[in-house]
Amino acid sequence: MALLSIKNLTIGYQTKTGIIKAVDDISFELERGRPLGFVGESGCGKTTLGMTLMGLLPDNALILGGSIGFQNKDLTQLNEDQWRRVRGKEIAMIFQAAMNALNPVMRVDEQVIEAIVTHHPEISSNDLENRINELFDLVEIPRARMKDFPHEYSGGMKQRVIIAMALACKPKLIIADEPTTALDVIVQDQILKEIKIIQQAMDTGLIFISHDIAVVASVCEDICVMYGGQIVETGTKQEVFASPCHPYTKALLGSYLSLDNQYSVIIPDMREAPDLTLENGSCRFAVNCTRCSSICKIGIPHWMNISKTHRVLCCDETITGKSQ
Ligand code: ATP
Ligand code: MG
Repeated sequence: MALLSIKNLTIGYQTKTGIIKAVDDISFELERGRPLGFVGESGCGKTTLGMTLMGLLPDNALILGGSIGFQNKDLTQLNEDQWRRVRGKEIAMIFQAAMNALNPVMRVDEQVIEAIVTHHPEISSNDLENRINELFDLVEIPRARMKDFPHEYSGGMKQRVIIAMALACKPKLIIADEPTTALDVIVQDQILKEIKIIQQAMDTGLIFISHDIAVVASVCEDICVMYGGQIVETGTKQEVFASPCHPYTKALLGSYLSLDNQYSVIIPDMREAPDLTLENGSCRFAVNCTRCSSICKIGIPHWMNISKTHRVLCCDETITGKSQ
């Protein structure tokens, strides 16, 4: 049984000009041992999806439809009391840019202790000490540095603390939202490897969010490409890399510099941001799509299967290459 099963999830934000759909009719399943990556441009709804899974949407957000199946519960139906028992304990999140949010006047180990004690107030001081040592070992911070203040840490070390805090209560699902974006490539590479090792060792489910498809592919087995609040293509990383179908996925891959850029496609000039208020189900990418044809202007995108695991959302049947 899937650890997480999301069906037709739609999340809106109430704004001055009306409701925008930041997440629009998203469905997917997550298996424990298969990290799932979400990739897409800024504003495509990645963090909104993560915050929904943590029950941390702001007051102007609305769950407009769908369900989130997790441990025989539908998370969209939980009240705040019930969320408190899930958040941090069953599902934890490494928040976007969280390393800048460490408390500057609190020692690092105290901040991790707080994350444990919040959910396990009964824990003995012995067990707490063992757990803290175990967590710092896991994220490879020397025990001698545990009592430092955050300003004494490098960016990479701060991000490791944030990961330790997310792991503190051995959650069943971790959502990592751009966990390495602010780090240099060497430290990024080390932390990505550690996240993968930890995920396998703890056998947790992992949703990994990034705007960088190469980063997502280094951690995840399966990839969902998002555009304008929707998943537009999904498949194993091999499928998405070797035979991208959606014009947006091709653009993402084509935007990478490579000496033998086999995905060199004409990168669309992204002139217009997607219209998140569209109610008629028409294609949100059409305005920027190099393949946009008359079918796309009147049609509604629908899911097409390329393989059992590889699917694309588009109006144009020829895009799969099967009917060309
Ligand atoms: P980034 O890569 O920049 O982190 P993202 O993919 O995480 O982007 P979200 O932060 O989920 O994107 O935002 C999705 C859309 O929802 C954007 O259009 C954003 O402007 C809008 N949005 C996010 N939070 C709010 C809010 N509190 N009120 C209104 N609109 C919001
Ligand atoms: Mg975000």
